[in-house]
Amino acid sequence: SIPFGVDLGNNSTVIACARNRGIDIIVNEVSNRATPSLIGFGPKNRFIGETGKNQQTSNLKNTADHIKRILGLNYDDPDFEIEKQYFSCPLVKNNEGGISAKVRYLGEEHEFTSTQLAAMYINKIKDITLKETKGNITDICLSVPVWYTEKQRCAAYDACKIADLNPVRIVNEVTAAAVGYGVFKANDLPEDEPRKVAFIDIGHSSYQVSIAAVKKGELKILGSAYDKHFGGRNFDYAIANHFADEFKSKYKIDVRENPKAFYRVLAAAEKLKKVLSANSSAPFNIESVMNDIDVSSSLSREELESFVKPLLEKLHVPIEIALKDAGLKTEDIDFIEVVGGCTRVPSLKQKLSDIFQKPLSFTLNQDEAIVRGNAFICAMHSPTLRVRPFKFEDFNPYSVSYFWDKEDEDDDHLEVFPRGGLFPCTKIITLYRRGDFEVEARYTNPKELPIGTERVLAKWKIEGVVPSEGENTIACKLKLRNDPSGFYTIESAHTVEEKLVKEVVEKEPKEGEEEDEKAEPEYREVKKLVKKNDLKISCTSSNLPEDHRNNYTEKEQQLTNTDKLVAETEDRKNALEEYIYELRGKLEEQYKDFASDEEKSKLSDMLMKAEDWLYEDGYDATKAKYIAKYEELASIGNIIRGRYLAKEEEKKQAIRQKQEE
Ligand code: ATP
Ligand code: MG
Repeated sequence: SIPFGVDLGNNSTVIACARNRGIDIIVNEVSNRATPSLIGFGPKNRFIGETGKNQQTSNLKNTADHIKRILGLNYDDPDFEIEKQYFSCPLVKNNEGGISAKVRYLGEEHEFTSTQLAAMYINKIKDITLKETKGNITDICLSVPVWYTEKQRCAAYDACKIADLNPVRIVNEVTAAAVGYGVFKANDLPEDEPRKVAFIDIGHSSYQVSIAAVKKGELKILGSAYDKHFGGRNFDYAIANHFADEFKSKYKIDVRENPKAFYRVLAAAEKLKKVLSANSSAPFNIESVMNDIDVSSSLSREELESFVKPLLEKLHVPIEIALKDAGLKTEDIDFIEVVGGCTRVPSLKQKLSDIFQKPLSFTLNQDEAIVRGNAFICAMHSPTLRVRPFKFEDFNPYSVSYFWDKEDEDDDHLEVFPRGGLFPCTKIITLYRRGDFEVEARYTNPKELPIGTERVLAKWKIEGVVPSEGENTIACKLKLRNDPSGFYTIESAHTVEEKLVKEVVEKEPKEGEEEDEKAEPEYREVKKLVKKNDLKISCTSSNLPEDHRNNYTEKEQQLTNTDKLVAETEDRKNALEEYIYELRGKLEEQYKDFASDEEKSKLSDMLMKAEDWLYEDGYDATKAKYIAKYEELASIGNIIRGRYLAKEEEKKQAIRQKQEE
């Protein structure tokens, strides 16, 4: 399969594939290099990506966006209090305590979990990629924010599975950008002393920074930090709220009370923000925003900066945390590589540069750096492709401990993967057990986590523990792993027992003596720990149970088929309409000498009836009916066309013969 990378943005999503010995950005059905991240639900089908954006204003209540922010989040999470203000569709608590969107779809009310929504969107992205590459897409490397908790990473993983993809790796966004940097700039990188680079991504909703040590063929993330609520949308809301206030006094309208009006103000605010990145002031006009009132105003860059002052004032915080983790100071940083759409804001760039007291580098493509890394990482995991070897280790932002019921051990838990460690990483622990037991992984320190995060990550049952004869307990060795996707697992478990084993005694040849190679080896008996048997591990993680997930996959397949049928029906309808006009035109021109008057009047009559049908009874017909109607017309149209083509061929032959003479 073609290695497939997806940078699922809060605002827009970028797709890349590794092919033709490079990384290609995949454009969508309207040739855009980024696809809006949203889903609209309609009476007959879903509108995902571009089509969703086109009908968003008229379908706000049934449009789900900001999906990435609610994926794997609990409804009762304090963070959701902040998050929900950004949504235009109603959100409800589902049976698992998660968040579902409540929308009207196919003429009735439906609820879709955040994982389902993400799966729908990823499935669409897959479809775009399949069409564009005519390829075989099965493996995916998806990037997620560094602040995603285990549960959110699991939800991202499940969403890929529901979209019938194989997630070979879930990777942190900034890490992916850094990997791209390491791989595609390999020739400029030092071979020995690593270069220290700060990678900064400020997107639509969040701000992340990672400090990396990069050298040829190798990368280590030394520190990562974030502000979960810092991005372009904060600017948009600041502008929109400013104008909402202004219009209240100036025009006596409250756009906040009218979702459609507020959405239009918000969309215009985003445009204005972008203009202000290049100009010092810009006009702001919306026709008939509400109550038939046209609004008109303007904004200067300075004013915008004053609105977002509190935001800009906390810009330095994540950088300081990341630097501290990395054990570095701003002056130790060689380069500051900046990505993400929001870093186009001049005051932000200026402030970042001031913090480091260095100019910023923009050697990475701001919008495509992450996805390029993703596609490369996916290719790394491909068994058939050979890619340049590149080793990278990521930074573990949250400490994780494993707990068990204490028996003969000194402790009932151990912090196995501390914050600041690198992953992937494997550690082995030994527990002395009388029988089967359970282990639980928990976040050690709630202070390190986004507020409200559940402590428990996963639970395991370890079965098959039988102490040796005459013993109370047996040593169980557990292989604990923080895997390449950042998931915490128990990879394997087995018991060991002490056995007397024969061992060759190594003899140091005495000085001056030749080693006697023919001498019989001498054995001694020693007590050694040897593996007794493998233990059975069953895990309850934050991932969806398999039957659950399979249900969702099946359902997603059904919804996709419905969408496909609607699209195909629309295509057939358009084809019929086009054919009617085309045939009618030709009947008066090219075909006019090739049909009898009787045929012409019969066909004209049929065309007129078909046209009437299209706008009345046939307005909302089935695909089969459109095809049947088309074929009915074509059965006569094609006879006439055949005569016309035969005559044309005759003419061509005649010309050719003339030329040969
Ligand atoms: P996130 O990373 O938070 O999930 P995302 O990846 O979708 O979101 P990006 O595509 O990196 O976000 O950035 C989108 C944001 O950048 C939007 O808020 C957009 O308005 C803003 N943006 C894009 N171009 C400019 C510009 N020229 N000036 C100011 N802001 C811009
Ligand atoms: Mg982004």
